[in-house]
Amino acid sequence: MTQQTLTIIKPDSVENHNTGKIIAHLENEGFRILAGRMVHLTEAQARAFYAVHKERPFYNDLVAYMTSGPVWPLALERKDAVTYLRQVMGATNPSDADAGTIRSLYGESIERNSIHGSDSPENAAIEISFFFAASELV
Ligand code: GDP
Repeated sequence: MTQQTLTIIKPDSVENHNTGKIIAHLENEGFRILAGRMVHLTEAQARAFYAVHKERPFYNDLVAYMTSGPVWPLALERKDAVTYLRQVMGATNPSDADAGTIRSLYGESIERNSIHGSDSPENAAIEISFFFAASELV
């Protein structure tokens, strides 16, 4: 089933000049880009985006990291996009990620792990609308 999901190319990837390589990797895996732009998240935006993690011990560090530089949110479309993106990304900790996955190739640490991907179709819809109006998905 064709599905939509949200990825964010995270600050470490932008800083390390990996944005283009990650977009090419996603396109090679069959994702179609519906919308995308570079943004520098405010603290309030990062806190809101990661509100589900607010009780986690790493929440403040995560917010600081995600606001440390610009990021690229992209709305993506593909068959089984949510599950497939999670496979292509690899495990949260790059040292546990399968060879060839984006986090294995480009991630630096469990925090600076190069890319975000929605974890369910429900969250994908919420996360896409966090960054893009429906009229911007083309
Ligand atoms: P994901 O779905 O694989 O991105 O992982 P989670 O939803 O569990 O965590 C969200 C993000 O928080 C991760 O992608 C990391 O950037 C960061 N993170 C997760 N676990 C840790 C941790 O133990 N320490 C730190 N500093 N950051 C973490």
